[in-house]
Amino acid sequence: MNKEKKDTEMITYQFRLRPTKAQTKILARWMGACRFLYNCALEQRVMAYEMTGKSLNYFSQQNELPDCKKIEEFSWLKEVPSQSLQMSLRHLDRAYRNFFEGRAGFPKRKKKGRCTDAICFPQAGKIQVGKITNKKSVISGLPKLKGGIKLIQHRPIEGKPKVATISRKAHGEWYISITCEKNVADCSAHGGELSVKKAIGIDLGVVKTIVTTKKDHNLDLRKIKQLEKEIAKIQRRLSKPEVKKFSKKWHYYQKIVRKKHTKISRIRKNFLHEVSKDICKNHAIVCMENLKVKNMSKSASGTIENPGKMVSQKSGLNRSILRQGWGMFRQFCEYKTKRYGSHLELVSPKNTSRICSSCGHTCKENRLSQSEFLCQNCGYEENADKNAANNILALGLESMGLSTLEALTIATSVA
Ligand SMILES: [Zn+2]
Repeated sequence: MNKEKKDTEMITYQFRLRPTKAQTKILARWMGACRFLYNCALEQRVMAYEMTGKSLNYFSQQNELPDCKKIEEFSWLKEVPSQSLQMSLRHLDRAYRNFFEGRAGFPKRKKKGRCTDAICFPQAGKIQVGKITNKKSVISGLPKLKGGIKLIQHRPIEGKPKVATISRKAHGEWYISITCEKNVADCSAHGGELSVKKAIGIDLGVVKTIVTTKKDHNLDLRKIKQLEKEIAKIQRRLSKPEVKKFSKKWHYYQKIVRKKHTKISRIRKNFLHEVSKDICKNHAIVCMENLKVKNMSKSASGTIENPGKMVSQKSGLNRSILRQGWGMFRQFCEYKTKRYGSHLELVSPKNTSRICSSCGHTCKENRLSQSEFLCQNCGYEENADKNAANNILALGLESMGLSTLEALTIATSVA
């Protein structure tokens, strides 16, 4: 089995940024300028449309930028890197296109403090990241910014930096994303050879986090549960009548809650990155269910005509689905299989938990409980998620052209 190869790919790294107070001031001013320009350009487009019935495009707005800077009132725009200002206009242009092509609503004004503030540096070729200590590094070469900004570098950067974006979350944490171009040939672990011996099936379980035909990967839920408990405690405090909405105390508690939520998502993301890397790097064929996570989590609340029946039961399951980040995991596997030259095969999730991976007998009685599987035909006994992972692997190999018997034999023998 062969598969076409791409020469380069783009990888985005995200790091926590630790700007000094002075740098924070400059960056905040630049972000403010980008936001201001975005809002002005949006207003200009709306007005132009009302007056002429025609939409302005990116280029006409970009061409006005130099004249804009000459006006005394807006001369402070000059201190902002001009390509970052142009990027703001490009973002608006994209927002408009997304609206016209039905992917998003009409562009909204950006409000200070209400959104993640960001500034984009589209030509980041001069960027350099130098190490200070084991984890601390300094990034330099950003336009119009003297010296470097400290960052927490948790992983090495590979490839050539192309674009960088600095952002500030609503709770005040700073981040930088650096998108680099990297040769794929450098890291193709399997040389385009998709050996069925190096195939793996993955079931995204509920009891155990990620179960594969080889081994289980468990997310340590203790820390997350602890954080959730703490969040619930603060929220109980927030709901007390003496804490007035939008008061100092209220804002203080909100900030803590947001920080704890970010921490939870960081723990989950780290785990998913580690597992997906391990799987995609060490296997040539990766088989997974084609789950529509968005639909699954939507269905619990039901619709107006058809309110969800088992709302309480389902929302428990949904919480754990979202908690464990299935959608994110699949996305990671999609690009990591490309990166390591392996292949991702998505299979229909129908019956994967009911088929016996030993004899193929399918009935719902096979599944004794959430975690146990006992075949009513041949007596095969296995962990339910593990049995599903075997089935997913067999289905994946089958859809890649193997016969059912071959696929089943491999699926149970690699295990
Ligand atoms: Zn059986």
